[in-house]
Amino acid sequence: MKHRRNVILLFTAVFLITVSALSLHLGPRLGKAQHTTAYRVLLDGKTWFYIHDRALVEELLEEYKNEYLSKIDGDAAIKSARFKQKIDIVEVNNYSGKLYSEREAWEEIHSCEEEATRFEVREGDNLWTIGRDYNLTVDEILALNPGLNEDSVIYPGDRITVKAENPRLDVVVVYEITVVEDVPYDTVIIYDSAMYESQRLVESQGVPGKEKKRYEITLENNIEIDRKTLESTVISEPVPAKVRVGTKKTVSRSGSNFGIVRGGRLTSNFGTRVHPVTGKSKFHKGIDVAAPHGSPVYAYSSGTVIYSGYMSGYGNLIAISHGNGMVTRYGHLSARYVKVGQKVSTGQKIGAVGSTGVSTGPHLHFEVLINGSFKNPLKYL
Ligand SMILES: [Zn+2]
Repeated sequence: MKHRRNVILLFTAVFLITVSALSLHLGPRLGKAQHTTAYRVLLDGKTWFYIHDRALVEELLEEYKNEYLSKIDGDAAIKSARFKQKIDIVEVNNYSGKLYSEREAWEEIHSCEEEATRFEVREGDNLWTIGRDYNLTVDEILALNPGLNEDSVIYPGDRITVKAENPRLDVVVVYEITVVEDVPYDTVIIYDSAMYESQRLVESQGVPGKEKKRYEITLENNIEIDRKTLESTVISEPVPAKVRVGTKKTVSRSGSNFGIVRGGRLTSNFGTRVHPVTGKSKFHKGIDVAAPHGSPVYAYSSGTVIYSGYMSGYGNLIAISHGNGMVTRYGHLSARYVKVGQKVSTGQKIGAVGSTGVSTGPHLHFEVLINGSFKNPLKYL
């Protein structure tokens, strides 16, 4: 028994010596139960963790900051990069508690107080509806999702960040950058009384201007939080677009109200058709709108009456010149209320629906001529 106890003592002694030797050799890296010099890392005045090497933690912090800097445009001039939190490293003697390994310290520095919130897109969602639900502007959503722009199409199942992650350490970077931006052009509208309200004519295209701008931009965790314009130089002024817009009014069509006659029904279109009376294929120079006998007929637009009389085929016919080569004609009337040379206004009652001339029943035959050629009246109503 005594011999056996000696063997155990011997082994214990060898073990202790070995452990001590290893400890001395490895120094503070062995961690626990070792009384040695350590560094206490404080975050905003509170102990964060302990580590054996000051330079190591400084290096890890610098590396973390550089991860943010590496994402900034290469043309930018970095003015400052700092942590929003206050970090202190204090030397502690005779420390015997837990020491963080390099890996643990790296993970701690990269940790989040709060993970990002992501929203899964559903059918019918767009950036605007998501913004409304999360109280964000579209610009704020774009800032949270660097892969998106205003024109991006999003699909059900896509994940959109609606709240950024909140890292343990916030990195604030300030930089300056010079960019050339487009300056939007204005559109000058020229009102033209010779044209109809529905007509628009682009006389000249606008050209955006160019401006050189120097910005000071502040990012917090890669999200822009401030932008100041330091300098702005005009390279070229924008050239306004010129658009001619008509002011002339016409009657307007809606449902069974054709403007020129109300409560009507389109019975024949403009173009080639088989004539209902002669049976021959013929070009129909206008449209036919069937309406009760005696229904009022209204002037398409303001103008001067150039014909009011009987014409074979048309029966009682009124023609109005609207200027700029435009003429409208109204046929098969049962009554005419205007005379040649008379000025009429838009929507003025000029006659009544009838079936005079070559006609199978009461209807208005309506034609539009531009410089003498027949146009499809439905394009003008
Ligand atoms: Zn007709």
